[in-house]
Amino acid sequence: MIVVAIDGPGGVGKSTVAAALAARLQVPHIDTGAIYRAATLATVRAGVDPADGQSCAEVAARVDIRRHGGRTFLDDEDVEDAIRGPEVTALVSQVSSHPPVRTALLRHQRAGLEHGGVVEGRDAGTAVVPDAHLKVWLTASPEVRAGRRAAQIGVTDPAAVASLADELAQRDASDAQRMRPAADAIMVDTGDAGVDDIVGDLAARATAAASAARPKEQ
Ligand code: C5P
Repeated sequence: MIVVAIDGPGGVGKSTVAAALAARLQVPHIDTGAIYRAATLATVRAGVDPADGQSCAEVAARVDIRRHGGRTFLDDEDVEDAIRGPEVTALVSQVSSHPPVRTALLRHQRAGLEHGGVVEGRDAGTAVVPDAHLKVWLTASPEVRAGRRAAQIGVTDPAAVASLADELAQRDASDAQRMRPAADAIMVDTGDAGVDDIVGDLAARATAAASAARPKEQ
């Protein structure tokens, strides 16, 4: 059983790397950002004030959030498109800043990890799976990150790309408190190598770390 934590800021390539690594290791891929986004959508629909941590946490605790085949389901409704839209993107950082919301969502983030997994987010290595066999912190320059986000959503106009860069910088600032690499995380710049090389290297490291840990588990 192998558990890997992949953290880093938005637009750094976490989802691409985490999904490919999970497929390579044949373990589930847990996208904790999608879980925060789905909970944020639930608070919007419930008409809750995003500044009210207790009410947001109550909503987060009562909804069912699942992921299948790269899609996100909120109480069995496919909300993958809605959670990537501007309304949720603008509010998710504030909703997820409340400690009771974070506690309420931990159960969704740890569900399905019995046989291992690749968990991606901001605090996977420090809070969700602090005992992961491998912890990775992804980085990339602001230009690379904005360019990737633009490509993801089909934006080409330079002014629109610049505004995406601003949006990413603002979200970094408001996520800053919980965006901390674990002390034992390895740093990987996703602008330096292709996805296949990065995933191959991480798969080898994770497999070696898990087999070194195995005698201790028995
Ligand atoms: O990864 P993604 O950009 O979809 O995450 C959306 C937001 O969810 C982040 O900007 C952050 O505010 C929040 N988040 C978090 N903790 C995580 C993952 C995401 O607070 N582990």
